[in-house]
Amino acid sequence: MRSSFFSIYIPLRTDINSDINAKVSNYKLAQDLGIYFLRLRVVNRMDVAEACKQIHEILDVLLRWYKPSNSLPTNGIYFFYEEGELSAHNGKQRIVRVGTHGQSRTLKQRLGNDHYNGNREGSVFRKHLGTALLKRTGAPDTRISEWRKKRKKSPHWKEFEGTEREVDETLRSRFFFRVIDIDNVDERQMFEEKIIATISACPVCRPSEKWLGNFAWSEKVRRSGIWNSNFVYSHARLTEKDLMRLKQLAYETL
Ligand SMILES: [Zn+2]
Repeated sequence: MRSSFFSIYIPLRTDINSDINAKVSNYKLAQDLGIYFLRLRVVNRMDVAEACKQIHEILDVLLRWYKPSNSLPTNGIYFFYEEGELSAHNGKQRIVRVGTHGQSRTLKQRLGNDHYNGNREGSVFRKHLGTALLKRTGAPDTRISEWRKKRKKSPHWKEFEGTEREVDETLRSRFFFRVIDIDNVDERQMFEEKIIATISACPVCRPSEKWLGNFAWSEKVRRSGIWNSNFVYSHARLTEKDLMRLKQLAYETL
C-alpha cells in the first residue's frame, strides 16, 4: 500500500516499462528522499542547550551597558542580564530578556524612552516587572490587574506612580544589557524570535529561587525564566547557520 501511496507523489521513471517495477523504484526513491530530508532537518536543528550556550558565549565579548547612551548603535537587538541570575553554561550572568525595535524607532529610543524612562503601556518589560514587584509586596490580584490595564481603560492609572518609580530603580540597579548591531529590520525580528525561542526552551538556563520573575503575573515569564512572553516556546529555533551569522554580527558590533 505504501508503494502505491508514494507512486502518486513521485514522478514515474520513463525507463521502466513494468508497472510493478516502477512502483518499487518510486518507493525506493521516496525512501531515499525521506532520509535526505531527515538528515537536512537534523543538520539544521541543533541541540537547544548547545545553541543557548553559544548565544551566551557570543555575547560575552560585548560591552556592558548600564543605561541608554548616545553611543548605542541605531539599530539592533538588546539582551538584558540581571543581578543574581546565573547561567550554568558558563557560571556568568544569564540572559533574562531579549528584544528589538521596529522601523519607526531606534534602539536607543526603545531602550531609553520605552524601557528606562517610559511607562508600562509602552514597555511590556516594565509591565512584567511591575506585576512581580507588586506581587512580591503582597498586592492583591485585583490591584495587579489594574496595573496591567491600558491608560484609557484605567481610572486608577496615576495611582501607580510609586510602582513606576520602583520599576525605574529596579532596572537601573539590578540590570545591565548588551546589544548587537543589526540594520535590517527583518533580520532583527527573525533573530529576536529565534533567540527567545531557544533561550526559553533551554533546560540549562533556569531561574534562581529568588528570581523576581517568579512573582510575575505572566505564566510564560515564570515558566521560561525570562522577562518575555512573545515568542516564548516558539518552534523557530536557531540553526548553526544562524549562530554563525550572529557571531559575525557580534564581532562587527565590537
Ligand atoms: Zn541556556
